[in-house]
Amino acid sequence: MSSHADVVVISAGIIGASVAWHLSEKKVDVLVLDKSDPCSGTSGACDGMVFLQSKKPGVHLAMAMAGRHRFDNLARELDAEIELRCRGGIMAVTSAAELAAVTRFIQEQNRAGLGVSLLDARQARDLEPCLSTDIFAATFCPLDAQVNPIYLTLAFLDAARRHGAKVLSRTPVMDIRITPRGVYAIDTPRSIIETRTIVNAAGVHAPEIGKMVGLEIPITPRRGQILVTGPMPPLLSRCLISAGYVAAKYDPDIAGTGSMGISIEQTARGNFLLGTTREFAGFDTTASLTAAKKILSRTQAVIPGLANARLIRTFAGLRPFTPDGLPILGHVSSRPGFIMAAGHEGDGIALSPVTGQIIAELITGTTPGISLTPFHLERFFRGTVS
Ligand SMILES: Cc1cc2nc3c(=O)[nH]c(=O)nc-3n(C[C@H](O)[C@H](O)[C@H](O)COP(=O)(O)OP(=O)(O)OC[C@H]3O[C@@H](n4cnc5c(N)ncnc54)[C@H](O)[C@@H]3O)c2cc1C
Repeated sequence: MSSHADVVVISAGIIGASVAWHLSEKKVDVLVLDKSDPCSGTSGACDGMVFLQSKKPGVHLAMAMAGRHRFDNLARELDAEIELRCRGGIMAVTSAAELAAVTRFIQEQNRAGLGVSLLDARQARDLEPCLSTDIFAATFCPLDAQVNPIYLTLAFLDAARRHGAKVLSRTPVMDIRITPRGVYAIDTPRSIIETRTIVNAAGVHAPEIGKMVGLEIPITPRRGQILVTGPMPPLLSRCLISAGYVAAKYDPDIAGTGSMGISIEQTARGNFLLGTTREFAGFDTTASLTAAKKILSRTQAVIPGLANARLIRTFAGLRPFTPDGLPILGHVSSRPGFIMAAGHEGDGIALSPVTGQIIAELITGTTPGISLTPFHLERFFRGTVS
């Protein structure tokens, strides 16, 4: 059996879901294929921090800032509860050495217009009284926010469906061929789907999809482990990361040691999500006791009240890591109609609305609001991709 769609989006993760919604809003005939259930990949195994102050100044921060305002009206646009809380975010600084590095980092962010302030220990505790008296300093960014990533992914998909998109779960893409008529033929166990435009939003599996059309895509899984506590009374109003978190994210030497900074988030229902590691461990999503002990002791050092927490589970997700920390977005020049939207590492939730918007603009012939050149797949290869 064969069928046709104007655009096929490979993935019902948060990126594919956002692309599908933005396209369907523009009345594009779109079909979403996922090998599993919606939100069963990384988007269902992560935190929900919409953090700007964790982004490197430059194109990454510019993209995050360009998309931040999209969150403000998203619940209304999607007609769904997404547990968005816009109370700003905190980065905890635990030593004088960290403070020097953080000061430089936020100076650059402020030059880019982000508006991050440096707080002394007392000011930090005025903002979040649960913080330890051992905190050295902190930074505060009022634009940082928090969302429920699972609710948001499912809301994108529901809204896309209402606009006419079709979503096929448990439908793996097994192969992609080019027909004699020059269109893509996508093989799935259910049918062959013909299309002129494919969006590869398969997260850590994007390289497998790339191989089907002869492309090498440098995305590697980078595991992050999270501990979940039972619901607790309100303790932390804003998401929190440590300065070490930003270092582990961007410094390959630190990352290579399996080092971790911390991330702490209290959800709308009161559960805490405590993280996290950054490990290259292939596709293994096992959570370890060693990592759990480290996460627990480090997060308790910053919020002593967590000593009363009851752990209910642990999980691990796979961040789609790229060598330069930027997602891979846009057309691939050697494969007309094959569009990348993957490799968001630890930022896919925060960047999901802007990514969906940009890709939909590209497909419908509108010039995206930000230049996609720094995000093209070709940046990883000398000359053109063959
Ligand atoms: C521990 C942890 C904490 C994080 N915290 C944050 C945070 O606070 N803020 C933030 O912004 N980001 C965070 N992230 C990053 C964020 O979760 C990811 O960037 C984002 O979820 C990636 O979404 P995706 O849609 O690209 O991939 P996925 O959600 O993995 O979706 C890919 C989909 O493709 C499907 N697929 C794969 N192969 C095929 C195939 N052959 N055929 C059909 N379908 C296929 C899969 O089934 C999957 O559903 C975190 C990540 C981790 C691991």
